Order: sequence, then C-alpha cells, then structure tokens
Amino acid sequence: MYVKPKKNLGQHFLTDLNIAKRIADSITYTSTDGNKPVCLEIGPGTGVLTQFLINRSDIDLSVIEIDRESVEYLCANFPTLYNENRIIGGDFLKVNLNELLPKSFPIICGNFPYNISSQIFFKILDHKNQVREVVCMLQREVAERIANGPGTKEYGILSVFLQAYYDIEYLFGVDRSKFNPPPKVQSAVIRLKRNGRQNLPCDEALFRRIVKESFGMRRKMLRNSLSQHLNGSAAQERFLTLRPEQLSVEDFVELTNSIS
Ligand code: SAH
Repeated sequence: MYVKPKKNLGQHFLTDLNIAKRIADSITYTSTDGNKPVCLEIGPGTGVLTQFLINRSDIDLSVIEIDRESVEYLCANFPTLYNENRIIGGDFLKVNLNELLPKSFPIICGNFPYNISSQIFFKILDHKNQVREVVCMLQREVAERIANGPGTKEYGILSVFLQAYYDIEYLFGVDRSKFNPPPKVQSAVIRLKRNGRQNLPCDEALFRRIVKESFGMRRKMLRNSLSQHLNGSAAQERFLTLRPEQLSVEDFVELTNSIS
C-alpha cells in the first residue's frame, strides 16, 4: 500500500528515521498525577513519526489525520492504535478538542502541514490551559518567528501571543532533502512548554488588538501606528518612538494597561 503525497494537504513525508526518533524523544512532559499524559499527533501521514511516538511507554498517543488514504494506511499498519480508536480521521482545525475524547491533550506533536501551521497555533492558544507542551516540525522561518525574542526581525504577532504563555526553544534544523517530496522551504523543530502564567495582567482582548495593530504597521513607530489609542500619559512616553519588534510581552502588557 502506497500513499501518494498530496500537495494541497501539505504532504511532505519525512524519510530520515533518526530525525523522526529525535523529534519523538524531544517530548519532556510528565504529568504530576501519576497518569500517563495524552499526546495528540497532528498529521501523521504514513506514520514515520508515529512509530517512535508509539514506542514511548510514558505517553498515550492518539493521532488526527485529514487524508482518507493516509488514515487507511495507518489503520492497516498500526493495529494497536486502530483497535483502541486512537486514529481520528478529521481536520484538526475543525474538530472540537473538548469533545474528541473524554480526555484533554496535554501534549501536541507532529510534523505539521506547513500551510496551516499558524492556524494550528491559534487553535492551541485557544486551548492553552490544556496544552502543556508542543513539539513540532514546521517551516524554518515560522519556527524562528515563534522562537525568537524581541529585537529580531522574525519577532511578530505569533511570537508575542505564544511567548506570553509558553517558553519556546528552537531545537534543530532539518534539511529539505530529508522529505519526500522535498518541500521548497527548510524546516526546523521547536518545543513549547507552558509557563506558569494563568492570564495576562491586563485586558487580554485589548492586548491582542494592540499587538495586531502595532505589527500591522511594523516599520512605523508606535506613536503613529497606535495614535488613536494613545492619550499622552507619562506611562506611554517611553513607547512612542519604539517599533513593535522592540517590545517584549511585558512591555505590551504595560502599554495595554496604560491605554485601557
Ligand atoms: N507526519 C508525517 C506527515 C507530515 S505532512 C511525516 O512526517 O512524514 C503533513 C500531514 O498533515 C499530511 O499527512 C496531511 O495529510 C496532514 N494534514 C494536513 N492538513 C491537516 C489537517 N487540517 N488536520 C489534520 N491533518 C492534516
């Protein structure tokens, strides 16, 4: 049985087993209540990564895959997952994570479909109090954007939103030659670990708006991009001549509080 890679689903199958094992080994989360944590793999394809995740006796694996042909392949080749109903055919972006299984998913793992990786992360943020750790491969630029801090040209909206709730590590790069078919872009693996923050100490809806609006005009100083929000208060003064990529999460929180 052979699964033909489909471009529209972002299918690039990893061919290097050492890298697949290294990704599986990068999961560090252990639950504190003695139960095995549940790990959801997004986009298992033909199971290159799955075969190593399944070997980890310290996690309970489920997988979600949108491609019917891949799902059939997985059901035939991973009988344990199949028998325990742990192969879910569906779209990660559409599925209701709370109803999927009577469990939450503290770990999310996968070689993500690159075309929807930002949307995957926005969904993870919607479930930030369930998802304790994410280990994933994605397009290298996006990996850098998520992992890099303020003062870098990669730093952007997704970095601020994710760094607010996760400690993020860039683990290693993966060359495009390690896939079939090779993608046009280079890849990298990152790990996100939930930090201790429950909520941001500010109006979060306003925080999101301020971050989006300031990065919407990335090259402009905040006194221009945020002019309609600013009120001339002393607390805002130090921000006026900065550009958004110079602000940390804490700075955006302070700025939000000075506006609300
Ligand atoms: N993990 C495999 C395949 C990675 S390619 C490997 O490393 O070889 C990305 C996979 O994500 C493909 O199998 C694709 O079918 C699947 N996929 C794409 N969009 C998806 C979605 N919305 N929900 C779940 N799976 C998706």
